[in-house]
Amino acid sequence: MKVLVANLGSTSLKWRLFDLSGGTERMLHKGGFERVTDYPKAIDDCLAQLKDAGQIDSEQDLAAVGFKTVIAKGLSGCVRLDEGAVKAMEAFNAIAPAHNPAYVSGVRLFAQRVPQVPLVGLFETAFYQWIPEAAQRYGVPEAWFEAGVRRWGFHGASHKFIAERSAELLGREDVANRARRLYVDSGKSAVQGPPLRVISLHLGGSSSITGILNGVAVGNSLGMSPQSGLPHNNRVGDLDSFAVPFAMRALGLSLDEVERQMCKEGGLKGLSGVSNDIRDIDAAAKSGDARAKRALDFFVHEARRWIGAYLVQLNGADAIVFTAGIGENRSEIRAGICSDLGHLGIELDPQVNAATRATEAVISTPRSAVRLMVIPTNEELVVAREVKRFLENI
Ligand code: AMP
Repeated sequence: MKVLVANLGSTSLKWRLFDLSGGTERMLHKGGFERVTDYPKAIDDCLAQLKDAGQIDSEQDLAAVGFKTVIAKGLSGCVRLDEGAVKAMEAFNAIAPAHNPAYVSGVRLFAQRVPQVPLVGLFETAFYQWIPEAAQRYGVPEAWFEAGVRRWGFHGASHKFIAERSAELLGREDVANRARRLYVDSGKSAVQGPPLRVISLHLGGSSSITGILNGVAVGNSLGMSPQSGLPHNNRVGDLDSFAVPFAMRALGLSLDEVERQMCKEGGLKGLSGVSNDIRDIDAAAKSGDARAKRALDFFVHEARRWIGAYLVQLNGADAIVFTAGIGENRSEIRAGICSDLGHLGIELDPQVNAATRATEAVISTPRSAVRLMVIPTNEELVVAREVKRFLENI
């Protein structure tokens, strides 16, 4: 069974092709285009590359195209992306303006280009379907909640991968199995051992932190929109809601302009004034740029705040896991986040941490009560697995 997982940006198309036949999970091909101006052509070029590489003879060889879709009105989980589902995504474009419009137009183009291939989306909100009611709420009138103003949570595919893989690495096959079966039995599989408490830090262009109890999420730092929680590359992160009307009045900004700045001029870019890429910000900070240093300090500060929240919600932690571009590659950020937490039984091994890059590793000292780990994420594999399950159950 060949499943193509397509990652759609407003000007990028990236893909991975998996073979999930029998019990196998093999990645056959990966590729992508940046600065895309002609999306239909990019889709054709993607399919041509798969043919040239000998991975498919025709589109008919694809069992499905899977998408890491973000959010839709009234829909979550793993679903067929028919026109109704696309319209439901479109209805929530304003919640995820940097993500949803690209999926809405991209999925429609795939539907035109490969009409006979099922298109299936695993929503980033799916992993949070079972978070406690209190973790879903904001203090707003009920009509706002019903309209969609609630904490949804995102990065579900990545944090689900970490839920499964961390449990495997910690020798907890019971919890790994529970996480694997989450969308089959809503996290009801039995757990034999003591509770397994994991805090997963997906730190990258978008960043979020999730508490996971026995393979099931208890909350996520991303709330109603992917602009919330930690500061992102250029998106704002958590902000007092009264800042918006205040900025409109004080700075004479229109609502559209405030929205644009919160999506494109905020986060690490806005704070540092340097770049939306942490490599550039780090280089500037090392050469004495005070704003760049402040941006990094703020990022670390916010990450620690969310770790604190989940340490309380989970009543401690067995493991804290770093993943994604920053989490996997930036040892100084990891060191900043883990500093001075000995009183909580969290102790980083500085040498192992400094030497760890983009590979699975335990980076805590042997005496640390909480295991600190780096686990490269694999969101596309999670999508492919759920798409396979979806196809087998229809
Ligand atoms: P992501 O969205 O997961 O691709 O993460 C993007 C962020 O991770 C950017 O701020 C990059 O600077 C950082 N990043 C990604 N790859 C690396 C790398 N190999 N070395 C250092 N930083 C990286």
